[in-house]
Amino acid sequence: MAPSSRAISLSLVCLAAVGSSMARAQSNDADVARVVAAMLGNTPMIADLQQLTDVFGGRATGSDANRRAVEWAIARFQAAGVDARTEPFTMPGLWLERSAMATVRGAALSFPARIAALPFSAGTTAAGTSAPLLDAGRGDSLGFAGLGDRAKGAWVLIEQDELKDIDGLFREYAESAQIERRAWASGALGVVYMGSRPNSQLYRHNMNLGFRNRDHFGVVMERDAAQRALRLLRRGTPLTLNAVLDLDRGPAYQSHNVIGEIRGSTRPDEIVVIGAHFDSWDLGSGALDNGANAMMVLDIARQIKRLGIRPSRTIRFGLWNGEEQGIIGSMGYTKTHAAELDKHVMTTSIDIGTGRIIGFFTGGRPEILPGVERALDPVAGLGPFTQVDIPIVGTDNFDFMLEGVAHLVANQEAANYGPNYHARSDEFGQADQHQLRLNAAILAAMTLRFAEMPVTWGRQSRADIERLVATTDLRAQMEQFGLWDDWTSGVRGRKTP
Ligand SMILES: [Zn+2]
Repeated sequence: MAPSSRAISLSLVCLAAVGSSMARAQSNDADVARVVAAMLGNTPMIADLQQLTDVFGGRATGSDANRRAVEWAIARFQAAGVDARTEPFTMPGLWLERSAMATVRGAALSFPARIAALPFSAGTTAAGTSAPLLDAGRGDSLGFAGLGDRAKGAWVLIEQDELKDIDGLFREYAESAQIERRAWASGALGVVYMGSRPNSQLYRHNMNLGFRNRDHFGVVMERDAAQRALRLLRRGTPLTLNAVLDLDRGPAYQSHNVIGEIRGSTRPDEIVVIGAHFDSWDLGSGALDNGANAMMVLDIARQIKRLGIRPSRTIRFGLWNGEEQGIIGSMGYTKTHAAELDKHVMTTSIDIGTGRIIGFFTGGRPEILPGVERALDPVAGLGPFTQVDIPIVGTDNFDFMLEGVAHLVANQEAANYGPNYHARSDEFGQADQHQLRLNAAILAAMTLRFAEMPVTWGRQSRADIERLVATTDLRAQMEQFGLWDDWTSGVRGRKTP
C-alpha cells in the first residue's frame, strides 16, 4: 500500500469516528429535548408524591411505613420497565418515637406542653422523668455560667429565635452542637429547646451525639408553651418539668436503599448517579424533605425508559434510606460499590424541597465546572444557574465527596423549606408542583448529558481529599453534623491512595 493511500484510509477511519461521535452528540441533544418535554408534561410524579406522603406518611428509617414505602418504590420502578433492586446496608441502631408528652408545674400552676423527642434522646419510664426546669438563656457559655451547679440533674430550657430561612436552619444546627456540648459538661439531665417554628409546629432535630447518645434527654417544646415557661422562670417562679418519652430503641439492623438502573449502551461500566433520600422524619409526611425529590428521581427514570432512550453510560437512580439519621444509606452505597467508584462519572443529590434550582454546589472542584455548564446548556432557559464551588455537608453527596467521586448538590431557592423542615407541617400541600416539574426537567437534562459527554475529571486521591478538608471549612461542617469522628477514624472516606 502506498504511503499516500494509507494516510487517506487512516484519515477516513478518523472521520468515521468523528462522524459517529457527532451523530451521538446530535442524538443526545434530541433525547435531552424529548425528556425535558416529558418531564414538563403530565407524568405520574405528583400522584406518586401523594401516595408516598398521604398514604405511607412519615418514613423514618426503621419504621413499618418506611418498609412498606420501599416495597412500593421498587414496584413503581418495575412498573415503568426500569430494573430496580433493594440494596442492604446496616443502620447503627433503631430510634423511633412512639409518643412524647410533658407537663410544666409550679407551686400554683400546671400546664401540658406538647413536645417531640429529639432523635437519639434517651427514653424515660412510663411515669416520666421529673426535674427542675431552668432558664439557660440561649445556651451560650453565659447562659450555662449563670446556672452554675444548679444545672446538674436539671432540664435546661434554651431560648431560640423563630426560624425564617435556610441560613437560620444552619445557624440552629451550628449552635445546637455547642449547646449540647455545654449542657452535658454542666451535668444537665436534658435539653429542652424552645420550638423555633412558627405556629408552635413541632419538629425533630438530631442531637449532635447521634447514635452514640445513651443517657442524655433532648426534646423540642412547642414555641408557645416554652415561651410561657420562660416568662414564668424570668419572673422568679420555680418550675419542674415532667417528660414521658416512649421510644422504640434497638440494636443495629438492616435497612435498604432502592436503586433503579438503566444500563449504558456503549460504556455500561461508567456510571452516573442521580439520587434523593427516601426516608423522612415522621411528624409530618416528608413531602418537601424529601419525598418530592425522591419521586422526581423515580419519574426521570420512568420517562427516560418510556422514551426508549439508550444512554451510553449506566444511569443509577438512588432512593437513599437512613439519611435523616446520619447519612447512612448513601454511605452504604459507597461501601457496596467501592470497586466501581473509580468509574463513577458524576453523582447528583437534591434535598432542598421544591424551591427553584438556581445552580449547583460543586464541592470545591473547579475542574468539573465546565462539564456542569455543558450539562446545563440544554435547559439554560430555566436558569440562570450559578455554581457555588464549595463542599457542603448535610446530605447524600457526603460520602461521594469523602471517596473523591465528583458530586453535585442542587442549590435551590429556600422557598418554604426552612419553616417546614422536619416539622409536622411538611405535608403534600407544601410542595410547589409547578416548580418541581421545572426542577425535574433540569435534572433530567443534566443526567442524560452526563451519561454522554466526554469527561475530563477523575476520582480524587486520598491526598486530594485531605487537602480539600484542610483548606475549607469541612471540619467545622462535619462537627456540626457529628460526622467528624467518622472521617478521622476511617469509618468514612477513601482509604487507598
Ligand atoms: Zn433531606
